[in-house]
Amino acid sequence: MLELLQKAQEKPHNLSLVELEQLLSVSSKEEMEMLFKAAYSVKERYIGRRVSLRGLIEWSNICNKNCFYCGIRAGNKKIKRFRLTKEEILATADFVHSAGYGSLVIQGGELENSANTEFVADVLREIKSRWGNELGVTLSLGEQTEEVYKLWREAGAHRYLLRIESSDPELYKSLHPQGHSFERRVECLHTLKRLGYQLGTGVMIGLPNQTLAHLARDIEFFAQVDADMIGMGPYIPHQDTPLGENIPVTAEYMQQQLLLGLRMIAVTRLYLHDVNIASTTALQALAPDGRERGLLAGANVIMPNATAVGYRAGYQLYANKPNLDENAEETMAALEASVKSIGETLRLNELGDSPHAKA
Ligand code: SAM
Ligand code: SF4
Repeated sequence: MLELLQKAQEKPHNLSLVELEQLLSVSSKEEMEMLFKAAYSVKERYIGRRVSLRGLIEWSNICNKNCFYCGIRAGNKKIKRFRLTKEEILATADFVHSAGYGSLVIQGGELENSANTEFVADVLREIKSRWGNELGVTLSLGEQTEEVYKLWREAGAHRYLLRIESSDPELYKSLHPQGHSFERRVECLHTLKRLGYQLGTGVMIGLPNQTLAHLARDIEFFAQVDADMIGMGPYIPHQDTPLGENIPVTAEYMQQQLLLGLRMIAVTRLYLHDVNIASTTALQALAPDGRERGLLAGANVIMPNATAVGYRAGYQLYANKPNLDENAEETMAALEASVKSIGETLRLNELGDSPHAKA
């Protein structure tokens, strides 16, 4: 194993599929510690002990899609739908800017219609006119046409996060109803890259019927699409979804999901080296210190929720989503303390682009 870790640290993309799988499969405490340490040293080399922030604005839970795993899927009639106004989004962006986060992410359900397109473009223009290059803007609004992506890029978005969810067409198919096209999702990733966005993608980790071989191929897929940022996290069952309704979320299950999520972060860092990798909220949902452990396994970005507390309950993608009632100022204090506790510092007032995007 030591030899494999050394080889991985030498240069990017220096592991075969079999070797990726081998590293993903380590299970003893000692081996996992070795894996995390090796990934951390690669992160330190490219990024240092610094954490970039993205203030997350969950702007709407209205979605036309019906992904089998997601709590805000169109078919879930139990949730109350909401959409923030332009003023509410701008007020949140103002907080994100003044708190020094440096970047924000506007995320929401997938809607393809001109009113939605124009609304987002209008918000982006206003953000750009108020804060210019002092605030990086990532969008995560699902699949759209090239025309729409182009409009939003010109209006001021410079990053886009679109997870492939699984790079295996068969597994992807099993997670989505008919009419959700794997090919279109891949095409969207290529289009975003071509349009000059910094590209973020990722997968859910620990899905039913997902093997380590799938995850190893996911990591190769990230390299193939030339991702600048990876946003991935453990799958967490939601009881009001077709995929999650019969999965018992026991303490043992949560522990397994957490450890697999951390190994996936580490092996992805060891393969890609210079990209940004998020330590996602899903890790924190599985363990109170999940996010810090993600940073110690090689991640370097945190996306604190900046959405007004009153709306958070409506954006429950999975069970036990954390910080539903913690306001943004409290989140900032908790963040500073948690990052400090592992010997890292926050990169405030910086866009926090990945070395890969700058290369
Ligand atoms: N609608 C956009 C899309 O699908 O790309 C953006 C918002 S969507 C809620 C963001 C991400 O949430 C998805 O890419 C998916 O990976 C994740 N997600 C949804 N349900 C989840 C679950 N049960 N566990 C973990 N992650 C989940
Ligand atoms: Fe909609 Fe995204 Fe959830 Fe799928 S994952 S149902 S596209 S919000």
